[in-house]
Amino acid sequence: MVSQITEYDVLVIGGGIAGEESALNLANLGYKIILVEKDLSIGGKMIHLSKVFPTLDCAACITTPKVSETVRHPNITILTNSVVKDIEKNPGNGFTFSLVEKPRYVTDDCTGCQICEEKCPVVIEDQYQWELIGRKAVYIPFSISSPRIAAVDIENCILCGLCEKVCPADAIDFTQEEKITPVNVKSIIIATGYNLFDPLNIPRYGFGKFKNVVTSMQMERQLVPTRPYNTVLRPKDGKMPDNIAYVLCTGSRDETVGNPICSQVCCMYSTKQAQLLMGALPMADITIYYINIRAFGKGFNEFYEQAKDMGVEFVKGKIGKITEKENGNLIIRYEDISKGKIKETEHDLVVLSVGLLANTDFTTMFKTEKIEQDRFHFVRQTDELSSPAKTSIEGVFVAGTAAGPMDIPDSILSAGAASSETASYLRRNHNEK
Ligand SMILES: Cc1cc2nc3c(=O)[nH]c(=O)nc-3n(C[C@H](O)[C@H](O)[C@H](O)COP(=O)(O)OP(=O)(O)OC[C@H]3O[C@@H](n4cnc5c(N)ncnc54)[C@H](O)[C@@H]3O)c2cc1C
Ligand code: SF4
Ligand code: SF4
Repeated sequence: MVSQITEYDVLVIGGGIAGEESALNLANLGYKIILVEKDLSIGGKMIHLSKVFPTLDCAACITTPKVSETVRHPNITILTNSVVKDIEKNPGNGFTFSLVEKPRYVTDDCTGCQICEEKCPVVIEDQYQWELIGRKAVYIPFSISSPRIAAVDIENCILCGLCEKVCPADAIDFTQEEKITPVNVKSIIIATGYNLFDPLNIPRYGFGKFKNVVTSMQMERQLVPTRPYNTVLRPKDGKMPDNIAYVLCTGSRDETVGNPICSQVCCMYSTKQAQLLMGALPMADITIYYINIRAFGKGFNEFYEQAKDMGVEFVKGKIGKITEKENGNLIIRYEDISKGKIKETEHDLVVLSVGLLANTDFTTMFKTEKIEQDRFHFVRQTDELSSPAKTSIEGVFVAGTAAGPMDIPDSILSAGAASSETASYLRRNHNEK
């Protein structure tokens, strides 16, 4: 279905912390914003985190007020479960694109009661809990999702009709179809964030084969208040771990997997998780295997020293291979760099500190223009020093980790740059505000 053309000042693509911040800054200046998010909820990766380094503030306590401010702002229109395609420069100024709204098969009448979830007979892996537990084919994405409206995962639904029968709000609607709307905007901010490195690409670490080898995002979920289990558990047998290892630089600074750059956040988020684990499991030993610790930000070195004082062991070691024992424990074979020796140690849980890779979705959104990538596949900042949000297309800006790995404070700063450069562009080219 194609509807009538609509108009906004700025299109923000991606509803993570960088997208929200960019949208809010511009909306507060009076610009009309359309924010398009491909996921069922806005909030990006941050909404799934436990606490943030180095302050150990609760991530949800920072991000949920920002999410509600974005949702309630009269100048911001949010489309979740939606993508943009065929962006074209208009002959004068500005852009036209196709907004593709995917069907949720649940209407806005949904009250979030979750009765449908209880009755649905289909159980599949929950992507919002990073596959640690299952979810139903009709589901509320996660407890603090925004909007808090259910969605039917049509690929896994068996069309039994039970959800439709039990829904007290009559909100299930299997007749919904994809909707495509042409939209005009004057400027665009790309805030599509990053992808996580897939550790299946390093088979010698045993991820996917040994259940007690998990990713740092899976550990992050185990440490949030709304965690899938009541405490931190080994996925294989539900035992509480008491000797946990972290493998830093999994998929970062590693030419062999095609990612030679540092992911900027893994040293610090692992140090954060180690400290949180010491609180959750006071008897546990925690060892962090690293090549170099990068603690370059304000308070980061003190945070690292604090972890050492708490008893976290830091071992300068290069991991060769991880193998599993019959009891589910894991043997890490590594080169002890400071002693120049090959060693083996046993742990009952291994966390792979996975790196941040480029999300290259932006490369396929443009119809006629070509947006340039840098050599690591992120959006290329064409004038990094004096105009850090500028891209190879005039009027298109970049915010947050779409431009490269960075932590939350830097993503917010980058969004500040993107919104102020966008506002100046609009003033220059559209004589506005
Ligand atoms: C395990 C782990 C722990 C971390 N802990 C910390 C911490 O303690 N402190 C800290 O400062 N940083 C931490 N980080 C880093 C933090 O996650 C990032 O700095 C931050 O999330 C970047 O925000 P962003 O908005 O740039 O990207 P994202 O959070 O990735 O948001 C991007 C958004 O864009 C959407 N999107 C993607 N493609 C499209 C598309 N084609 N169309 C529409 N929407 C799209 C996504 O769905 C998402 O909502 C951690 C990272 C990891 C992996
Ligand atoms: S779809 Fe209906 S049953 Fe399911 S959460 Fe929404 S209101 Fe409740
Ligand atoms: S129709 Fe689909 S989503 Fe609804 S209860 Fe049946 S399997 Fe679950």
